[in-house]
Amino acid sequence: MTAQTKITSAAAEAADILNRLGVSEQLWTGGARRVRSPVTGEIMAHVHDATTGEVAAAIEAAHAAFLTWRNVPAPRRGELVRLFGEELQAAKADLGALVTLEVGKVVSESLGEVQEMIDICDYAVGLSRQLFGLTIATERPDHRMMETWHPMGVVGIISAFNFPVAVWSWNAALAVVCGDACVWKPSEKTPLTALAVQSLFDRACARFGNVPAGLSSVVIGGREVGEALVDHPRVPLVSATGSTAMGRAVGPRLAQRFARALLELGGNNAAIVTPTADLDLTLRGVAFSAMGTAGQRCTTLRRLFVQEGVYDALLPRLKAAYGSVKVGDPREAGTLVGPLIDQAGLALMLTALADARAEGGQVHGGQAVALADGCYARPALVEMPGQTDVVRRETFAPILYVIKYSDLGEAIALQNDVPQGLSSSIFTNDMREAELFISARGSDCGIANVNIGPSGAEIGGAFGGEKETGGGREAGSDSWKAYMRRATNTLNYGSTLPLAQGVTFDV
Ligand code: NAD
Repeated sequence: MTAQTKITSAAAEAADILNRLGVSEQLWTGGARRVRSPVTGEIMAHVHDATTGEVAAAIEAAHAAFLTWRNVPAPRRGELVRLFGEELQAAKADLGALVTLEVGKVVSESLGEVQEMIDICDYAVGLSRQLFGLTIATERPDHRMMETWHPMGVVGIISAFNFPVAVWSWNAALAVVCGDACVWKPSEKTPLTALAVQSLFDRACARFGNVPAGLSSVVIGGREVGEALVDHPRVPLVSATGSTAMGRAVGPRLAQRFARALLELGGNNAAIVTPTADLDLTLRGVAFSAMGTAGQRCTTLRRLFVQEGVYDALLPRLKAAYGSVKVGDPREAGTLVGPLIDQAGLALMLTALADARAEGGQVHGGQAVALADGCYARPALVEMPGQTDVVRRETFAPILYVIKYSDLGEAIALQNDVPQGLSSSIFTNDMREAELFISARGSDCGIANVNIGPSGAEIGGAFGGEKETGGGREAGSDSWKAYMRRATNTLNYGSTLPLAQGVTFDV
């Protein structure tokens, strides 16, 4: 049986990849932390957790590296990121395969995640020649006022399991061209992909030559290691991606020492389907956004508001898609839904479905699937009588709640009536509806789309959300400003000293 062959091969496959990517065996054998593949349930490696002392040493090394790196001209810093992008391109298949083994994403999504890293490297290389500030009109004669942007220092990066490598790169590629150093604490569920990325970064550094040691490093571990990063006075910015519960703990700790927080937290994303929607396109957009990555994207579609006039046309087609989608080993061709990350994730899904039933929901699908020792489930489509408690919370699993509405204003109000504010979309061919949705009276999310689902963002735009999603913005647009400090400079090239606001002070 092919599944059986794969069961015995996951650990070996991971070992082969780690060797090819140059990760020292010492780093993934002999440690106390077990790394389990959600694909087969196999233990693939044993990694070492960093001690508090090791975290502090990594931060001190990064700080020392920063003191040198900030003097390197930004376009030259961009050259390092360009070389790193080349390493990623060369290792794309291997790194993608490792993402599949460690997180359970289907191969094309894992490759897409690595492509996203390559894309942000390209973006950062261009950015390295565009870290510009404004020149501002001043009220004083013979004066000039301007802004300059300077490197900040050590950036702490805490990442979630579901985008184990791309989210780090959104931060690190920008931070490195901005002249910062990075210390990365990946999810304790996905240390192997982090070690692999670090090895590729080291290869780029070797080709570049003269990169200060410790410019970017990885510290493995759970919450305690994250806390050590959050509390360290030499870390002026922590970018933390994960649950709202994590952000609620991290935010105040950073505020306590006046460090900057860039928070990318949970989402509870919705789409609205109006009577004019193209239902073929809607079906595909909804299916990918709701079932892709087994519902484990921060931007996964979790709530679908369907206008009562099209409900009966759309629902049977959606049910058919849910019933026929192939759930299974993410390495196999044709699989669209791989496993959940672990048994705890599966248990949360089953609990949410039980709650949904208790709150009046009619559940289609959602059964656990016995396959190897993985954590598989069929995606669930749940018809709900309204936006009940279970709908308002984020369950990180492939559950789509569907709710009927009559009036667009009511649908927009429902879509906004959750604590989270990450991503949203509307399916419509009515220009007024589309414009209303993306207007100030429309979606309150950081991302608002028309005729595409809420997931699958590109790196060119700023990524992040409002309310309990944390307010952070990463990747494109002007997100780079988060990784630099701004200085306002006023220069007097005259021979008098006029004071602003007409103040006189003659001595
Ligand atoms: P999680 O909150 O369990 O863990 C995320 C990271 O935070 C891990 O590295 C973890 O070790 C660390 N951590 C947890 N508590 C901490 C603390 N008190 N101090 C310091 N570090 C701490 O999240 P997860 O299960 O890995 O990921 C899923 C969640 O992440 C979902 O809620 C999802 O929506 C969210 N997410 C958000 C985005 C975004 O960009 N908004 C992207 C990906 C994932």
